[in-house]
Amino acid sequence: MKNVTVIAHPLVQHHLTRVRDHRTEPEEFRRLLGEIVSLMIYEATRSLRVKRMAVRTPLERTTGSTLEREIVLVPVLRAGLGMLNPILEIIPHARVGFIGLKREETTLQAQFYHQSLPQQLGRCEVILIDPMLATGGSAAAALDFLCEEGAEHIRLVCLVAAPEGIAHVRKKHGSLPIFTAAIDRCLNRSGYILPGLGDAGDRLFGT
Ligand code: URA
Repeated sequence: MKNVTVIAHPLVQHHLTRVRDHRTEPEEFRRLLGEIVSLMIYEATRSLRVKRMAVRTPLERTTGSTLEREIVLVPVLRAGLGMLNPILEIIPHARVGFIGLKREETTLQAQFYHQSLPQQLGRCEVILIDPMLATGGSAAAALDFLCEEGAEHIRLVCLVAAPEGIAHVRKKHGSLPIFTAAIDRCLNRSGYILPGLGDAGDRLFGT
């Protein structure tokens, strides 16, 4: 699939299988999710643009590189929170915005209940983080909102994606880079990913 990167690294897949396991308790689930995300973020940020800069070592002048744009992480509440700290461990200088979306249970439509974003998004690399790309309704709503707020460079990092969710996001955000650890089979009637891992928020927070 165009611009969809499945991170097939053996460690990612090893941890993902344990995350899927219904016996994995929230404490372990959080830890494993953190390990997966830490591995995924290297791949998801591989194409970030850098610029050359001069640096003086204790011995001489040389040139190095520095990120061209500031990074903004935007977790979709609440399950996206489980991916935030592991990414901040690797990109501690990132700024953080939040988008709160819930699924209306009957229509499965995404509804906003919170949004707060850093200024000047257009100059930043925005990484939208949400573990489950299911119907794609929340991701598409979050992406539309980010674009309305001026974001121009966005990538989406999720743990598990459904083909339906990718197709939905693609309708309006054709070239958005998507990074996922797996593309699962399909959605069930309630909009859950099969085989998936259940409700990511519930499994993360034990609700
Ligand atoms: N959200 C989840 O947490 N899990 C799914 O399978 C679908 C949406």
